[in-house]
Amino acid sequence: MLDIDAIRAEFPILSRELYGRPMTYLDNTATSQTPRRVVDIITDGYTRSKANVHRGVHTLSQEATKAQEDARRRVASWIGAESHEEVIFTRGTTEALNLVASSFGGMVLGEGDELILTVMEHHANIVPWQLLRSRLGFTIKVVPIDGEGRLDLDAYRALFNERTRLVSVCHASNVLGTVNPVKEMIAEAHAHGVPVVVDGAQAAPHIKIDVRDLDADFYAFSAHKMYGPTGIGVLYGKRGHLEKMPPYQGGGEMIEHVSFGHTTFAELPFKFEAGTPDFVGIPAIAGAIDFMDGIGIDAIAEHEHVLLRHATDRLVAEVPGLRIFGTAPEKCAIISFLIGDHHPYDVGMLLDKLGIEVRTGHHCAQPLMEYLGIEGTVRASFAVYNTIEEADRFVDAVKRVAMILG
Ligand code: PLP
Repeated sequence: MLDIDAIRAEFPILSRELYGRPMTYLDNTATSQTPRRVVDIITDGYTRSKANVHRGVHTLSQEATKAQEDARRRVASWIGAESHEEVIFTRGTTEALNLVASSFGGMVLGEGDELILTVMEHHANIVPWQLLRSRLGFTIKVVPIDGEGRLDLDAYRALFNERTRLVSVCHASNVLGTVNPVKEMIAEAHAHGVPVVVDGAQAAPHIKIDVRDLDADFYAFSAHKMYGPTGIGVLYGKRGHLEKMPPYQGGGEMIEHVSFGHTTFAELPFKFEAGTPDFVGIPAIAGAIDFMDGIGIDAIAEHEHVLLRHATDRLVAEVPGLRIFGTAPEKCAIISFLIGDHHPYDVGMLLDKLGIEVRTGHHCAQPLMEYLGIEGTVRASFAVYNTIEEADRFVDAVKRVAMILG
């Protein structure tokens, strides 16, 4: 049993009230809250040791550089990377995927080639590829889902042919919660000699990531969804790929030598980190990992699943006309739903007045919404600090909103 009270005590924001009621924060898929120890690292960075990294012989710069590079090593060992040089800091999953699309995609995709995506991808794993497609003229093929929100793996296998060059797939869906069998999907792709990019934005907070066990070619995630600071993400890439790839952006930090005639580039990982990084925020990722490791990722997932099952069972039994989108057995603690024909915004606004913070809309997955034949959903998502009482408060509030809306 987790000591949820002790965990919650680390998050001052969770004791807020809204409209005279306790705030129930269930928008963790969009961003999770940040424990005080992570905020303290950032505060320390600004108040004690702020100095730009990699450019100074002075003490503060060396401290800041060490803190940043220690965090890189911590991330590398946390995801099972072979080397910290395979860990590139970005602004988030979105920038990580843009980097892969532009640099690696630009190398391996050309006219007449094919890229495989799935229908449940976030816009961050669709639009960068479309931008590249408009330059290079390849084709995007899409894996469909079944009624429970699971990928159709037979359809996936059938998409491969001699023109398939790349697969990019989310580890877990931010709408359906479905956890995809990425290890199996990667093995299938590799059997065809095709590399795989994994969007791990929704997996990193809940699932043990082992990039070498998965054999992922690239793996992207965002710190702000895993109790860390906002504005920082990670791109893992296999060294063999990263070494061959051209830089994504040019500027300071990523060069070895610059002249007007010719420029040579820095070694990994700096070749992909142009400009001043968020050297104050990056060490806080290590704090977020410490927080999660202190509890244990399996214990986090187990607790979230208890909340998921409890809230789902009650919603299904007690709210007539409620439809849940995404009922796969392998699922993160996300409940996407609609009540009858009521617009998700109406439901979300009324829930907010009852102190329940949920997300509404298309969740940056418009192709999935089109596939499901809906405009959007209401989405509640749980994190380790949520409680059974909060799950009950949420269900009671949904019942009340359903009654108000008729
Ligand atoms: N991919 C998935 C599956 C997501 O859920 C999100 C954010 O919700 C992203 C990518 C984009 O993450 P970020 O906005 O942190 O770059």
